[in-house]
Amino acid sequence: MKKLNILFSFVLIFTSCQSQPLKSNKMDTSKKTSNVYYNREDSKKVDVSNDVWKNILSPEVYKIAREKGTERPGSSEFEYKKDVGTYYCAVCGNTLFKSDTKFESGCGWPSFYEPFSKTSIIYLPDNSYGMKRTEVQCGKCHSHLGHVFEDGPPPTGLRYCINGVVLDFEKAQEAEKKFDGKKE
Ligand SMILES: [Zn+2]
Repeated sequence: MKKLNILFSFVLIFTSCQSQPLKSNKMDTSKKTSNVYYNREDSKKVDVSNDVWKNILSPEVYKIAREKGTERPGSSEFEYKKDVGTYYCAVCGNTLFKSDTKFESGCGWPSFYEPFSKTSIIYLPDNSYGMKRTEVQCGKCHSHLGHVFEDGPPPTGLRYCINGVVLDFEKAQEAEKKFDGKKE
């Protein structure tokens, strides 16, 4: 009888432990690591492998920036954007274009006639798809941005045809506010 009692209390302890709510230790792996390479103030070159970028960038940015993809024409909110401000590389924060060099080309992608500075962009020959084109990449992180064509408006006669997905925009007012804040 005593043995049975002991056994019974064991069962009680066991079942009471089991009834404790189980804490979930499941990690949320869907979230990407924050982008430590994104910096608008630092123009130092960013040399990071695609294996690393894949864990940082969203799939759509990764596909265009690192695998030379092209967004669907007419899909970018920036194509007809007229706000005054600055366009940055969405991968590393490099300053790419000012809004006053933006124009409506009707090609289906945000278009500019001149980059922010000579070091904003680098140029590479692209002979894919049986065409002779010039690819433009970010001068800081070497991400694919789009192509440049020689049918743009004056004064340059160039048309930088850029995927909106790899652009970040900041309105001039917001930038000025930050600048004023720093002066104080
Ligand atoms: Zn970049």
